[in-house]
Amino acid sequence: MSSFLLEIVTPERKVYAEDVNMVIVKGSEGEMGIMPNHIPMVTPLKIAPITIKKNNAEEKIAVGGGFLEIRKDKVVILAESAELPGDIDLARAEAAKQRAEQRLGGKKDDYDQLRAELALQRAMNRIAVKQG
Ligand code: ATP
Repeated sequence: MSSFLLEIVTPERKVYAEDVNMVIVKGSEGEMGIMPNHIPMVTPLKIAPITIKKNNAEEKIAVGGGFLEIRKDKVVILAESAELPGDIDLARAEAAKQRAEQRLGGKKDDYDQLRAELALQRAMNRIAVKQG
């Protein structure tokens, strides 16, 4: 099966660098499956799990938004945050979800509401990836 190099980088570290057969991401215009030899492009990513297909196995990574860059030689995800299931602290994500829900329930300005909504999305993304 043909493959390409997928790198996932955050401001803190390189989270992933492996040859894969396919990656499915949630871009600004919906789900997108990237196979080898895709034309070069850049697109923003939503806060959502990405799915990596490699040697008939599948793995998920929680990506907290960022950009997907398809280059000639590799595909790079520049992520705000990215965690493999084993890196995710479920209790922390559940606590973050509760805090965000409480803030969304309170009377706050639009800015606080947006921040809480994004925190909720990050927490739910992590919980979904952790729980497979
Ligand atoms: P929290 O409120 O728990 O800090 P957050 O969504 O505000 O969550 P981020 O700002 O997205 O956190 O991430 C900050 C750093 O903490 C990143 O390195 C991210 O990978 C890590 N991180 C955040 N939540 C978790 C988690 N539940 N398990 C493991 N790492 C996490």
